[in-house]
Amino acid sequence: MEYPGNLFVVAAPSGAGKSSLVKALLELDAKLDVSISHTSRAPRGQEQHGREYWFTSEEEFRAMAARGDFFEWAEVHGNLYGTSRAAIEARMAHGDDVVLEIDFQGALQIKQLFPYAVLIFILPPSWDELQQRLNRRGDTAPEVIAKRMANARVEVAQAQNFDFVVVNAVFDTAVFDLKSIVHAQRLKYAAQRRNRSAVFKALDLP
Ligand code: GDP
Ligand code: ADP
Ligand code: 5GP
Repeated sequence: MEYPGNLFVVAAPSGAGKSSLVKALLELDAKLDVSISHTSRAPRGQEQHGREYWFTSEEEFRAMAARGDFFEWAEVHGNLYGTSRAAIEARMAHGDDVVLEIDFQGALQIKQLFPYAVLIFILPPSWDELQQRLNRRGDTAPEVIAKRMANARVEVAQAQNFDFVVVNAVFDTAVFDLKSIVHAQRLKYAAQRRNRSAVFKALDLP
């Protein structure tokens, strides 16, 4: 599928800091927008419908999937999550840059659909630290944390299939690493030909 903007896909085990990092990245970069996923899980803490997620019933989610409303969807930790076409198609049509915060199964589906998608995996610095972050966040039940820790072992094994790996030890360093990936992507030939068309024309570049 042809797509003029950049598509960044960020995956990580739960608690690695993905949402916090992407939020910080968006605050630094007005040209980036995050896609809001649909999920069948219940809202957590301060989460709001239409801000963190579109919260839907499992029945409604499955009906959307059957209609082909999703670019990708997957079952993660016992709930359904998906990226709707509606969530990103308009931005993609404008050539805007979009970030997807999704699990590795979804990331690999997106790479099949959009070979130019940039896949970024966030690693926690250690298993202990991951557990502590999930505990500290304070909005996740102990049995849910145990399930997410078990799934994390399977998830980090997928980092090798991603284009970039960011270790979230010191938060600001990880934000800087993410920024660098976005910046480098925007310097690729095809992107520069779009963004610096006057220079390319003046230099007779194809
Ligand atoms: P941009 O993508 O056009 O915003 O520019 P760069 O990504 O090249 O640089 C962003 C800024 O981050 C520069 O001012 C760097 O000096 C600064 N910087 C460099 N290394 C680090 C680091 O490890 N952590 C943080 N927080 N900032 C850094
Ligand atoms: P995810 O979206 O991957 O599940 P969150 O962004 O919710 O993760 O982060 C999990 C918890 O860890 C949050 O309480 C967050 O404030 C904290 N956190 C994120 N990055 C760091 C870091 N580099 N150092 C310490 N705590 C962090
Ligand atoms: P959480 O419940 O902690 O918000 O997210 C749980 C997992 O679901 C995370 O790995 C997150 O990346 C993933 N996820 C969130 N939205 C989507 C989506 O639209 N598609 C897929 N495949 N995974 C998602």
